[in-house]
Amino acid sequence: MALRTLDSLGSLAGKRVIVRADLNVPLQDGIITDDGRVRATLPTLNALINQGARVVVCSHLGRPDGAPDPKYSLEPVAQRLSELLGKPVAFARDTVGESAREAVAALEDGDVAIIENLRFNPGETAKDDATRRAFAEELATLGDVLVSDGFGVVHRKQASVYDLAEILPSAAGFLIEKEVDVLDRLTENPERPYTVVLGGSKVSDKLGVIDHLLPRVDRLLIGGGMLFTFLAAHGHKVGSSLLEADQLDTVRDYMRRAQESGVELVLPTDVVVASKFGADAEHVVTSADGIEDTAFGASGLGLDIGPETAERFAALVRDSKTVFWNGPMGVFELAPFAAGTKAVAQALTQVDGLSVVGGGDSAAAVRQLGFADDAFGHISTGGGASLEFLEGKKLPGLEVLGWQ
Ligand code: ADP
Ligand code: MG
Repeated sequence: MALRTLDSLGSLAGKRVIVRADLNVPLQDGIITDDGRVRATLPTLNALINQGARVVVCSHLGRPDGAPDPKYSLEPVAQRLSELLGKPVAFARDTVGESAREAVAALEDGDVAIIENLRFNPGETAKDDATRRAFAEELATLGDVLVSDGFGVVHRKQASVYDLAEILPSAAGFLIEKEVDVLDRLTENPERPYTVVLGGSKVSDKLGVIDHLLPRVDRLLIGGGMLFTFLAAHGHKVGSSLLEADQLDTVRDYMRRAQESGVELVLPTDVVVASKFGADAEHVVTSADGIEDTAFGASGLGLDIGPETAERFAALVRDSKTVFWNGPMGVFELAPFAAGTKAVAQALTQVDGLSVVGGGDSAAAVRQLGFADDAFGHISTGGGASLEFLEGKKLPGLEVLGWQ
């Protein structure tokens, strides 16, 4: 069945519309360091405002312990949202208490309020169905319908994501609609050649994705920390680089499956090896089978793909019609080891077809490296949620909106 979309809710003028957004932004000393998730909610919110709905925004932020904690207040987010919408946003100091009820009651057509962090209430994430349901029933009194748009949480069976969508008439907002549309194109009938680039820290985090995508792709390019487990599976020495010895058999199995099904599994031919983990480390480029042959010997640490590999990966990416990239190619947070990630990101912006960036750190990487969001076909806002979608898992927050 297809996802229920906004238009399925009919006219929303004058109605109280709860929008479950994902406003879980990174904060430093109360300042938002990346407002990407706030901006991602704007299309849905503006559409509701223009229809004359009375908009009640809710979200979680961080992981408070089921009780109010000023560190995780949504107040800075309310301010940022107000700036981005160019209109006042009322802020309720609780989630389902007096302040929330008053803020909602004061809304006029086209107004927006935001209620305090959902996770200040133990019911939001309760494993016990009845506890969760009871909290969802309280939330439901604040609205007439629910627009679910927090893609980053659709893999969670939580009160505002799942139960509330059962209680109230509900539909997906534009963000979830777009995420599902794009991710579905990465799993069903992708335009070919289809290239997947995987990196990041651990193979063990990405096993499900590799399993599900391996039979679907034409090429799988491996960078990041996980590349060393692949090199080790080939019998190469990897010095002090990240190695998951318990995944060697799994990785050998992937290599065998790739070969059997004609998938090109592309491993780096050169890497950047450092003397230590730090921006001031000494570093050299070496061949993938010579990691321990540098001056650093067995203490050498592979922190990025080498320039030859970066160029090859970039060429394969540019020559694709569909590209999914998850996981930085190196420790991009340290300037000397950001080149591989930058080269792959640059190539994604040149794809004549669909290019998708997924994963929290990968999205942060492309922004930090100075790429504009719209340089890519899509940057997924959901780290865990997009990976679980690509693993072929059933996501409760999507199933409840009709998606199967
Ligand atoms: P995402 O959040 O996009 O899914 P991950 O969480 O899997 O990505 O991985 C991101 C992290 O991987 C980054 O912090 C980066 O520094 C790290 N990383 C990349 N390459 C290496 C490497 N060679 N050694 C250690 N860590 C690495
Ligand atoms: Mg991550």
